[in-house]
Amino acid sequence: MKVLIVHAHYEPQSFTTALKDQAVATLSAAGHEVRVSDLYAMQFNPVASAADFAERSDPDYCVYALEQRKGFESGTIAADIREEVAKVDWCDVLILNFPIFWFSVPAIMKGWIDRVFVSGRFYGGKRFYDQGGMRGKRALLSFTLGGREHMFGPQAIHGELETMLRPILRGSLAYAGFTVLPPFAAYHVPYVTQESRQQILVEYAGRLNRLDDLTSLSFPSLDDFDDRLYPKT
Ligand SMILES: Cc1cc2nc3c(=O)[nH]c(=O)nc-3n(C[C@H](O)[C@H](O)[C@H](O)COP(=O)(O)OP(=O)(O)OC[C@H]3O[C@@H](n4cnc5c(N)ncnc54)[C@H](O)[C@@H]3O)c2cc1C
Repeated sequence: MKVLIVHAHYEPQSFTTALKDQAVATLSAAGHEVRVSDLYAMQFNPVASAADFAERSDPDYCVYALEQRKGFESGTIAADIREEVAKVDWCDVLILNFPIFWFSVPAIMKGWIDRVFVSGRFYGGKRFYDQGGMRGKRALLSFTLGGREHMFGPQAIHGELETMLRPILRGSLAYAGFTVLPPFAAYHVPYVTQESRQQILVEYAGRLNRLDDLTSLSFPSLDDFDDRLYPKT
């Protein structure tokens, strides 16, 4: 199995980085090939802009998704985007590893999705959800939070974790066709004991060794919708 870990933390000694290192060690030991995109270390540019296109199909007005599609097809899209798309193409499993910022991913990771999930390859026309360009690949979120576990759930103060992360789980990964595995959450990380954090690393290794046993999250199938994307009755 080929695994791409996209990692977003500014501090190499952080616990989030320890989760990334645990994944590299565990997956490599199990015989899998692992590559890492360490976004802060790479100084990845997260800002989607007209500068991503060396040649424009319309020089007067930039429609980002349209230029993405054309620039990707012609090979004129920015080199850093091409390199990241090639890594995602290479992998069987994509892991996004990050600390929760404001109920979401840090800006650098959001920008990685904005720029790398290119129209034409990841989605386009009626190619999304189970028809998306990444169908056949799996995706996993692994993340740290300040919040405690009991703060997330149907009746909990912040609501369900999967609802909080809907823009990533559904709007990005499932939309692009990935089979989305249940996320791995490391709760209350800065406030628990060192031993508790070490236990989280052990639990994460266990999760990674059981990827094939996990039941993926459910998302729509285009088969259940008509040509205009109304639900079939
Ligand atoms: C802008 C912003 C927005 C945020 N929004 C939210 C939010 O919406 N919801 C929420 O819940 N939280 C939120 N947070 C909190 C944030 O998610 C947590 O602070 C973060 O996830 C903690 O992870 P870390 O890797 O940064 O921890 P660190 O502070 O880097 O690490 C915690 C401790 O783990 C230790 N450690 C490192 N490696 C190991 C190891 N191998 N074994 C054991 N211990 C180790 C470190 O030394 C440190 O003492 C937000 C924070 C910011 C800055």
